[in-house]
Amino acid sequence: MSNTEGRRCPLCTTSFAERRDLQVHLMVEHRKSAVTEELVRSMERANTPLRAR
Ligand SMILES: [Zn+2]
Repeated sequence: MSNTEGRRCPLCTTSFAERRDLQVHLMVEHRKSAVTEELVRSMERANTPLRAR
């Protein structure tokens, strides 16, 4: 089990344990698709230590 800190929806601040859940939430609740991908990506970048680049 890889249980890191939960992800939070930047649009309504609901939190999710899994990034995938957040992604689904964004698409279903906020109807984002392309935007979501970019958003999640930028969030990942923010959560990723610099050495991961
Ligand atoms: Zn949301």
